[in-house]
Amino acid sequence: MSITLNIPGPEKDNGKIRKIFYECLKAVKKELSKKENTKIIYQKEYFSADGPESFLIVEGLPVKELKKTAVKIEDNHPLGRLFDIDVLNEGCYKISRQDIGISLRKCIICNDLAINCITSRKHKRKEIIEKVNKMIDDFSAQSFDYWVDKIGGITLKSILLELSCTPKPGLVDRFNNGANQDMDFTTFISSTAAIAYGMYQFVRLGIDYTDEIEEILPHLRKIGIGMERNMFEATGGINTQKGLIFLGGLICAAAGSLIKEGKKLSPEHICQKIKKICKGIVDKELKILRSSSLEKKLTNGERLFLKYGISGIRGEAERGFPTVREKGLPTLRAGLKDGLSFNDASVQSLISIMSSAEDTNVILRSNLDFLHREVQAKAKEIIELGGMYNLKGRRKINTLDRYLIKKGVNPGGSADLLAITITLYYFSLLPVPEILK
Ligand SMILES: [Zn+2]
Repeated sequence: MSITLNIPGPEKDNGKIRKIFYECLKAVKKELSKKENTKIIYQKEYFSADGPESFLIVEGLPVKELKKTAVKIEDNHPLGRLFDIDVLNEGCYKISRQDIGISLRKCIICNDLAINCITSRKHKRKEIIEKVNKMIDDFSAQSFDYWVDKIGGITLKSILLELSCTPKPGLVDRFNNGANQDMDFTTFISSTAAIAYGMYQFVRLGIDYTDEIEEILPHLRKIGIGMERNMFEATGGINTQKGLIFLGGLICAAAGSLIKEGKKLSPEHICQKIKKICKGIVDKELKILRSSSLEKKLTNGERLFLKYGISGIRGEAERGFPTVREKGLPTLRAGLKDGLSFNDASVQSLISIMSSAEDTNVILRSNLDFLHREVQAKAKEIIELGGMYNLKGRRKINTLDRYLIKKGVNPGGSADLLAITITLYYFSLLPVPEILK
């Protein structure tokens, strides 16, 4: 097989054209992989001013069948009209469409046969170039929709997996309501459904946003405000996931921005993006409170910053989620590798996060000393005992659960970081997004 492209205009090879070329190659390989006993025994790409070309030797499929496969791709792939997939037999004779009883290729603009339009110069060159660009744009838009769906879906799945993993000390899980009087498992389900659409909007914004990424935060907040309204409506005025809306905005927009760039959604890439999005957020939003004489209704996070200098989730985000990268994610991965169930690996990851996170939810319901002695230190102890890996560790987790419930303390900040950990884990399994733009 010889695979080339039909690209009008003088430029036959650039980044975009290469992507179309690889899209074609991908389609060919996908079709061939469906055929029994068929394999590619040789493959080589050539790049010249005439454009990219791939040369494949295929074994196991009669040439006419191979030509039918090629025609199927040319006629059905959204970019198929730009593909030129020739099939040659062992004697280097090119199998034509007529050889397999299929009509000649249609023109890219009208429904006439391409050969007629070319010989009569029926269409202006400009018209053809515009048509080709539109085909590429439409195809890109389709692939962006795919990624919006994918990323939004993974984020929501991760939020639900975090919610349902059990036991979580002091938190709502499948066994109990933790230290919460006013919310339970079903409150969180309703809340998650209410904020779901916003997560997809965050991804879309990340893809569509063309200004400096450092300026995106106010735009994310606009979407976030709508989500908060939906959340309060669904929960009857209870704040279940305000922190998670903020985090979801960051992670989804960062993912969207990477997709547009065609970069892998690795934890490193995502956290680098989030660092940029949140650059200066602690100075801008927290330190300014110290010098501000304005009488303002402070949020919980703001009050804690003034009292203890703790920057909470804003600080964690600005530093690119060190707790997630250094504790949550390695623990989750190790747990899965060691054969723990996803539930148990998640719980283990949560305990690891709790051992070092500056959890503002904990401080709000107790004090800084309690966070250090009763939460971080006990979480460390549990990890040393083996945590979810053995009965002793599991018992200790249940003991901590009962203790935090008695004290009315829930480590909600750590739970949010677990949701981010799980999201990053699933993002890291995705292939590099192939985008034509
Ligand atoms: Zn035509």
